[in-house]
Amino acid sequence: MATTAPTAHALPSYLNPDHVGPWGIFLQQVDRVEPYLGNLARWVETLKRPKRILVVDVPIHLDDGTVRHFEGYRVQHNTSRGPGKGGVRFHQDVTLSEVMALSAWMSIKNAAVNVPYGGAKGGIRVDPKTLSRGELERMTRRYTSEIGIIIGPNKDIPAPDVNTNEQIMAWMMDTYSMNQGSTATGVVTGKPVDLGGSLGRREATGRGVYTVGVEAAKHIGLDISTARVAVQGFGNVGGVAGKLFAEAGARVVAVQDHGGTIYREAGLDVPSLLKHVQATGSVGGFDGAEVISNDKFWEVPCDILIPAALEQQITAANAGRIQARMVIEGANGPTTPEADDILHERNILVLPDVIANAGGVTVSYFEWVQDFSSFFWDEDEINARLVRIMKEAFSAVWLVAQDNKVSLRTATFIVACKRILHTRELRGLYP
Ligand code: GLU
Repeated sequence: MATTAPTAHALPSYLNPDHVGPWGIFLQQVDRVEPYLGNLARWVETLKRPKRILVVDVPIHLDDGTVRHFEGYRVQHNTSRGPGKGGVRFHQDVTLSEVMALSAWMSIKNAAVNVPYGGAKGGIRVDPKTLSRGELERMTRRYTSEIGIIIGPNKDIPAPDVNTNEQIMAWMMDTYSMNQGSTATGVVTGKPVDLGGSLGRREATGRGVYTVGVEAAKHIGLDISTARVAVQGFGNVGGVAGKLFAEAGARVVAVQDHGGTIYREAGLDVPSLLKHVQATGSVGGFDGAEVISNDKFWEVPCDILIPAALEQQITAANAGRIQARMVIEGANGPTTPEADDILHERNILVLPDVIANAGGVTVSYFEWVQDFSSFFWDEDEINARLVRIMKEAFSAVWLVAQDNKVSLRTATFIVACKRILHTRELRGLYP
């Protein structure tokens, strides 16, 4: 092993910082924040080791009668500030390293917006498009049963993430409830509204992206009503953010997803594009736009770039070509640390995932509170509370960035890590 921990013990192999993968990126981000933590730095090792990792085997009967096994994960990175909280992702490229990093980013995100949660994340290594609805349901239910030993309304609360949605959350809630013997709506968030879900949850991440974008634009003198926007990923996050920017007068000039990349200098018709994506599953084949190569997406003339798909999209290979003045990370982990440095040198402002996409979990928190009290709020109240939390969190991070002359990512990590490690210190070690 190349690296040894500062303690006497070698790190477990999966915590090797040389490991290339999202967890390695998270460790680098923690290293960057450490000098700013003062006395709390003595607890920093806490952040470099997930509290609990559960790997589960998920066997199901396929429709053809054969049995197939899937790899499932649930990682609870930190629970100092409250129960674990974070989504579940179904994707063929899910790895333990990825789920660990995503769980850690949830710890940071939840602390950054000051919701009373730790961080967790789950995933199954599967391409859900290859499964029938029945297979998807059986896989979801078996996975939920397997992780049932560590989740619960007061322990760890899953939610939607890449390729999971309200229906999956309904099956998870039902499976957990059946195993418990009583309905427990608070075990997951992002549920259908008729089943204890919250109004505004589906749009919340995109609304949060838009809200911090508008705030940051004021600081850099960018006029949203004339801005050009490029969006990668046009689903729950990118689609909603794109719609809100377009409604504010911005021109959405380029959109990329798994169906290709489309461009229109005068601005795409966003409502029609949303309908097209809803009907066909991707932006591919949309009339009224030019098709450009996927690589060209990164150099389209624009003011705001919103990566809202997967990790590690903005890398050293394309960061030098980005034309935008501001990048808003709708996705989790879309920018590598090298790319972060390049964007910083080029004076391109990056609104990091751990604040920019925190709108989703913020309304998840509202959903969880509403489930506990069985009293449901109207959508205006939800959106108003969401916008208030996002604006306050963003302005606190902005000040820390100015005071310390650091990037917004490091500033968000400073705010969040201090909160997490402060509770760590207050609680102390057991036994
Ligand atoms: N999956 C979303 C995220 O990455 C939401 C998590 C939640 O609502 O718990 O922030």
